[in-house]
Amino acid sequence: MKIHEYQAKELMRAAGVATPDGIVVSTPEEAAAAFTKLGAPLQVVKAQVHAGGRGKGIAVGPDDDRDDALLVASGKKERKPGMARGVQLVKTAEEAKAAAASLLGKTLVTYQTGAVGSKINKVLVTVGHDIAKELYLGLAIDRAQQAPVLMASTEGGVEIEKVAHETPEKIHRETIDVGLGLADFQGRKVAKALGLEGKTAGKAAALVKALVKLCIEKDASLIEINPLIVTDSGDVMALDGKMTFDDNALFRHPEIAAMIDTDEEDPAELRAAKSGLSYVNLDGDIACLVNGAGLAMSTMDLIKYHGGEPANFLDVGGGADKNQVLEGFRILLAEPRVKAVLVNIFGGIMQCDIIAAAILAAYDEIDFRVPLVVRLEGTNVEKGMAMLSESGRPIIVAKGLTDAAQKVVAAAAGK
Ligand code: GDP
Ligand code: MG
Repeated sequence: MKIHEYQAKELMRAAGVATPDGIVVSTPEEAAAAFTKLGAPLQVVKAQVHAGGRGKGIAVGPDDDRDDALLVASGKKERKPGMARGVQLVKTAEEAKAAAASLLGKTLVTYQTGAVGSKINKVLVTVGHDIAKELYLGLAIDRAQQAPVLMASTEGGVEIEKVAHETPEKIHRETIDVGLGLADFQGRKVAKALGLEGKTAGKAAALVKALVKLCIEKDASLIEINPLIVTDSGDVMALDGKMTFDDNALFRHPEIAAMIDTDEEDPAELRAAKSGLSYVNLDGDIACLVNGAGLAMSTMDLIKYHGGEPANFLDVGGGADKNQVLEGFRILLAEPRVKAVLVNIFGGIMQCDIIAAAILAAYDEIDFRVPLVVRLEGTNVEKGMAMLSESGRPIIVAKGLTDAAQKVVAAAAGK
C-alpha cells in the first residue's frame, strides 16, 4: 500500500527525521490560510498523488491534451504558458491560493503516471527551504539478499532511475540487518558517501539511522527521500517523502492501514479485497480465475506461450465458497476488455464438484457475455466435470493445462 507525501512526512517527523513544516488542504482558501499560519516568506504548494515526477508534472483539466502534457512532463517538449506544474514555489497567501486552484480537482500527468495521470484531491502547503545540496536516499527490499538495502547518492533531485541506469557507481549501497538496524559505522559511511563533513555528517548519519528504524518498525517495503537537502545553515532535511508498505504486514499497523486513499487504488482490486479475493489487473483480453498464486503464474505463462494475453487474474485462494466465486466472476467480467474466461482450479482443499456447482450457479446469475473455459483437477474431478458437461450450458471443458490454454486463446480470438 502506498501513502501520500504528507502522510510519509508525518511518520518521518514522528520517527525523528527532519522535514519542513506543512499543512495539507483541499481548497484554495485553506491553502491561503495555511500559508498565513506557516508564516514563512517562501513556501511550496505540492500536489498529493501517489506518483513521483510531480515537480516536472503538468496538471490537466478535462479538456486538456494529456499526451501533450506527458511530453512536457517527460522533458520532451517545452512547457506552454498556463500549464501548471505539480510543485509550485509561492511567496504570498494569494499565490498559494492560486497555486492550489491550479491543481485541486485537476489530474496530474507525470512521467510516472503516464497520460492517464492521477487525480489531485489534496495539496500540501509547506515551508520552503534554501537548497545548498540535493541528495538522494532510498530504502528497498533486496530479494536476492533477503534484506532491506539503503541507497544513497549525491545525485539528488533528478530522476534516480537515470542515475541507476547511466552511472550506477554514484549510488552507494548498505545492506541492513533487520535485527540490528543500521550500525553507527554504516551511518558514517553513508554520510561520507554523500560528501558530508562535520556536524552535517553527524546529522545525516542520525537521520539515516532513524529512517532505517522507521522502515523496519512499520514494515515498509520502500522509502524514498528525493531530495534530501542540506540547507545553507548545514541542516539535513527530507524535502520529499514516499513510502510503500507490505500489504501482508498491514494487520500489524492499523494506523497505517487507515491511511489508505481509496481514490488512488484500483476499484476492482478494492472490491476483490472486500470479498477476501486477490485480483490483479493486466492489459490483455483473457480473464483468469484460479486458486493459488503459483497456479496463477503458470496459467498466465501458458496463455502467453500459446499466443494469448491475460486481462487479469483472480485468486480465490484455498477454500473459496460459492459467493466468493460469484463475486470473482462479476469482477472479472466487469472489465470490458475481457473476451474469454479461463477457470483453472486444482481441487486440493477445495473440491471440484463444489467449484462446478459454483460455476453453474454463477452461470444462472451472471450474464456470461464471453466464452468460458474450465479446467478442473483434483478431488472429485470426475463428478465436477460431469456436472459441467451435463448442465447443457455452453461451457468449454478442458483436460489438462495445455488444452485449457489452447482452448481459451482460440475462444478469445473468436475461433
Ligand atoms: P517530485 O517531483 O514528485 O519528486 O516532488 P519533490 O517534492 O521532489 O519536488 C520537486 C522539486 O521541487 C524538488 O526537486 C526541488 O527542486 C523543488 N522544491 C521542492 N521543495 C522546495 C523548497 O522548499 N525549496 C526549493 N528551493 N525548491 C523546492
Ligand atoms: Mg522528489
